[in-house]
Amino acid sequence: MVDRRDFLKLAGLGAAASGLRLGPAQAEGVEVPRPPGARVISTWDFGVAANQAAWKVLLAAGGAALDAVEAGVRVPEAAPDNPTVGLGGYPDRDGRVTLDACIMDHQGNCGAVAAMEHVVHAVSVARRVMEKTPHVMLVGDGALQFALAQGFEKTNLLTPASEKAWREWLKQSHYAPEANIENRAYRAAHGPGGAANHDTIGMLALDAHGNLSGACTTSGMAWKMHGRVGDSPIIGAGLYVDNEVGGATSTGVGEEVIRNVGSFAVVELMRQGRTPAEACREVVMRIVRRKPERARSLQVGFLAMSKRGEVGAFAIQQGFSYAVCDAARQDRLLPGASLYRDEPPA
Ligand code: ASP
Repeated sequence: MVDRRDFLKLAGLGAAASGLRLGPAQAEGVEVPRPPGARVISTWDFGVAANQAAWKVLLAAGGAALDAVEAGVRVPEAAPDNPTVGLGGYPDRDGRVTLDACIMDHQGNCGAVAAMEHVVHAVSVARRVMEKTPHVMLVGDGALQFALAQGFEKTNLLTPASEKAWREWLKQSHYAPEANIENRAYRAAHGPGGAANHDTIGMLALDAHGNLSGACTTSGMAWKMHGRVGDSPIIGAGLYVDNEVGGATSTGVGEEVIRNVGSFAVVELMRQGRTPAEACREVVMRIVRRKPERARSLQVGFLAMSKRGEVGAFAIQQGFSYAVCDAARQDRLLPGASLYRDEPPA
């Protein structure tokens, strides 16, 4: 619950360079604090379209954040031209597309699938794990078996374009994650890139009841070893939501996020009073301090939203973008603040 003093303070905050501080709509004349307005945020350029799908759910009477995030991230999951999420995702080094996803609601319920093949909407399978099983995570064949039993359709996720990219990669077979593939401006400057590409959609939504939920879904690092699981389906690493405090999600090289339990750390720092932008920055800096020699070639970014609807983001390299959607505007795409302001050296 936002107390009246905080509420009035929030209403006066403006946009900050490191993120948005968007408070409740209006303070004047309001005696009883209301929950902040609904808002949805997500990683990368593809977050704009995903947010809009989530927003439609939030607008509907009683629209719940959980339904919104699921609907939102299903958009990039179904897009065959997106090489980093769902259908058309780049495969592992054996040519197999394996998906990682998770979802978490305002009551701390969560579900996840990892290294799952042949099902487009990994996030919806994750939700079924949360709602229909006594477990939190199913992996590999077990996840697929469960999905099929739940009525999900078996689909070939390897599109001709992804297969072509994989065959091209096989010629060198060099694994070197390339940052920012999902940032359009970056792609325009650098081309689509043939190296190991990644980028995940992580989404957080706050509904009109003041409840938070999150989802995260990805095909993971392209050309990864078969069976590799990144941060994205791991609660606390790729996603964490605490309805008393806020939520966080991550993108980038998942191994570094897992090592630092990234999203959980961001939320805990917000609990201690950091803004979302400050918390994201602090966890990025922890990662950098542990691996200073790799910092220039590594991309990790966090995106967070507080219970009050404040938004912040921070990444190691420039080029991380995030999308914000609320009653004021549904198509906002913002540059995430970053440690380095120039391109990583080739
Ligand atoms: N974090 C994802 C993974 O490691 C990839 C990404 O977001 O770029 O699988």
